[in-house]
Amino acid sequence: MNTLCATHFTAEDRAALVDTVRRFATQAIAPHVDAWDEAGAFPRELHLQAAALGLLGLGYPEHLGGTPATWRARNAMSQTLARHGGSGGVMASLFTHNIGLPPVLAHGSPELQAEVIPPVLRGERIAALGITEPGGGSDVAALRTTARLADDGSHCVIDGEKVFITSGMRCDWITLAVRTDPANQGAGGIGMIVVPCDLPGISRSPLRKMGWLCSDTAHLRFDAVRVPVRYLLGAEGAGFRMVMANFNGERLALAAMALGFAEACQDEALAWARQRQTFGAPLIERQVIRHRLMDMRMRIASTQAWLDALADRADAGDGGADWVAQVCLLKNHATQTMQFCADAAVQTLGGMGYMRGTVSERLYREVKVMTIGGGAEEIMKELAARQWNL
Ligand SMILES: Cc1cc2nc3c(=O)[nH]c(=O)nc-3n(C[C@H](O)[C@H](O)[C@H](O)COP(=O)(O)OP(=O)(O)OC[C@H]3O[C@@H](n4cnc5c(N)ncnc54)[C@H](O)[C@@H]3O)c2cc1C
Repeated sequence: MNTLCATHFTAEDRAALVDTVRRFATQAIAPHVDAWDEAGAFPRELHLQAAALGLLGLGYPEHLGGTPATWRARNAMSQTLARHGGSGGVMASLFTHNIGLPPVLAHGSPELQAEVIPPVLRGERIAALGITEPGGGSDVAALRTTARLADDGSHCVIDGEKVFITSGMRCDWITLAVRTDPANQGAGGIGMIVVPCDLPGISRSPLRKMGWLCSDTAHLRFDAVRVPVRYLLGAEGAGFRMVMANFNGERLALAAMALGFAEACQDEALAWARQRQTFGAPLIERQVIRHRLMDMRMRIASTQAWLDALADRADAGDGGADWVAQVCLLKNHATQTMQFCADAAVQTLGGMGYMRGTVSERLYREVKVMTIGGGAEEIMKELAARQWNL
């Protein structure tokens, strides 16, 4: 599980990180999100700004330009950026490298790592991950995009399509799950390969969404794209296991994000309830409103405790079946916490909660992708049940 580097990261280090991230989110993200959502994109320079603060490299080894960090620290960054930036769209695209690069770090040759990873951590290049296809995302073992070895053995030739790809329009590299053995139509026929996105034969088209409006999401087509074999990752046929291992980190990060968004909704609802007067008294004085805020806080507290416990287990090297099962269920719990809090916040804000410009309105629209992306709720339950041999 621990593809990324865990290392000693003190509570003081974490507090300093949280402080830096809060300032970055409050000054460089939150004031601009509405305009970026309207524009359907955020400036590419944001990658450079986040890199300059060391945020893109958190958890990566120093020799590749990163800063080794524990899962507790990485989660604290995601949660804080979510709470104070209030935009899943920004976080999804700004950090796609955290789903695209871990397979390269775990299974790429040192030369490939040195070529791909440092420019991404410097914010100069963008990395993405391509698993989902028009034919389906949950059933990874059924994917159809092929990577056939060319006759001279020097290249793989890629044909197929990937859909709903975050950073799909902008990415310079995409780590693809592909069928390397067309004779094997199951999980054993899958491999992973890093594809430089300037190669001939790649076409991309943007997709319009319900939320994450400033995030770049695309449909990618690969038509006889010739990729040198040195871009292949890991052992032949090991791709399915790589994809599954990569999902664990993605789900933990999604849980931390969902928790931060739940807090953002709670913050906005509390501030509104304190200043909004109805029938001669502030909303906060109504028991039903206070209880709603307590229902939010209860879910936030349980999610926080579970997230921290699983992060500590990951930092201690645990990646066993029980841990994997709990990460799946935590992903569901955290996104349901966000769902509850977004709904409760919009209700508390009344008509204002339905207006563009409030954080709760944005997050209410962004909830659904959190319960679907990175493994949908139903799949999370199935996977957890299987880990526990039910
Ligand atoms: C904004 C956005 C960004 C994304 N970014 C990326 C990305 O960067 N890279 C990437 O590879 N993918 C990405 N995805 C894709 C995402 O991971 C998939 O949408 C997700 O895995 C579900 O796959 P699917 O949409 O094909 O749904 P399907 O697999 O078709 O499932 C549809 C529904 O049926 C349910 N279901 C499926 N099988 C079963 C079953 N056996 N029993 C019960 N219920 C079942 C699912 O839970 C789901 O609710 C993104 C998606 C979105 C919306």
